[in-house]
Amino acid sequence: MAFSELIGQNEAKKRLGVSLTGEPGHAFLLVGPSGIGKKTLGREFAKGLLCSHPTENGACGSCPGCHYMQAGTHPDYKELLLPQGEKNIKVADVRSMILSDVGIMSQIAERKVYLIDADGLAEEGQNALLKTLEEPPKHVVFILTVSDESKLLPTILSRTVSIRLLPNTEEEVKEAILRRNPDTLPEEAQLFARFSNGVIGYALNLCESNWLINDWEEVTDLILRMPEISRTELLTEVYSFFDEEKDHFRDILSLMSMVYDEMAICATDSSSVCLHGEEKKDKMVTVIRKNHLDVQKIGKCNAILTTAAKAHKANGNFEIIVCRMLLALKKENMNG
Ligand SMILES: [Zn+2]
Repeated sequence: MAFSELIGQNEAKKRLGVSLTGEPGHAFLLVGPSGIGKKTLGREFAKGLLCSHPTENGACGSCPGCHYMQAGTHPDYKELLLPQGEKNIKVADVRSMILSDVGIMSQIAERKVYLIDADGLAEEGQNALLKTLEEPPKHVVFILTVSDESKLLPTILSRTVSIRLLPNTEEEVKEAILRRNPDTLPEEAQLFARFSNGVIGYALNLCESNWLINDWEEVTDLILRMPEISRTELLTEVYSFFDEEKDHFRDILSLMSMVYDEMAICATDSSSVCLHGEEKKDKMVTVIRKNHLDVQKIGKCNAILTTAAKAHKANGNFEIIVCRMLLALKKENMNG
């Protein structure tokens, strides 16, 4: 797979591509949120570094080095990742996999490449790696990935060339989803893409679980019924929905906020394209007109959700937060 086959991250790919055709540095740091594709890009860059004929578009894909990388058996490439269920990479593993290995000459390629998940390195592990990072053997390139740079020692940061991976656009995420799961409905792919905030890995996880689609339906119906719903029903049935979904309360708030955003768009331009599809959209427009909802009122609803999210983050009482929020939303959705 060449760089051009990876979706998005054009700036990062360009910078890495330049390194492939020139003299690459010894240590790179790929920075970006979890699920953004740091390891995928890091592996592709490693493949380019170990390829006999790399271009700015990455590895050639057909030389022996590329074949070994594709098969996962390149003797000059190693990954040091956080083992599942562990909190940190063991310092002993840093020593055995990296420190005692870097001095040995490469077997096939001109160099050796190490991909290291730096999120898994506690201070002790980072310290163990530091000296080698400061004075790496000529034939060695390190690719570190990290989601939280602030956990890295300043000395690690200063020894690495940092390359930032930015959130993908909604269209790019949608493309990634449809490429992996061609059967996904386009409007569902759009919903996953929007909810994932540009993080492809997260969007792909969402595709594999049902909760987002189910809860999206649920909160949309709730919001559309809000003007008619009684206070008693709000504090009993509706509350129990939130109670059951307690574990991802803030995700539910984000979903609700997305529904209100859609309503705000519909309120200004009823011919706009809607994430909900035509049928729900018509219902939405009816509710908006019937209850004289305008952008300002809808904006207030979003502010109510933000207040609830803040209170929840500050560990406020769940029942009070939810009931207050529902009653405040109800008040905003009263006719007139
Ligand atoms: Zn190649």
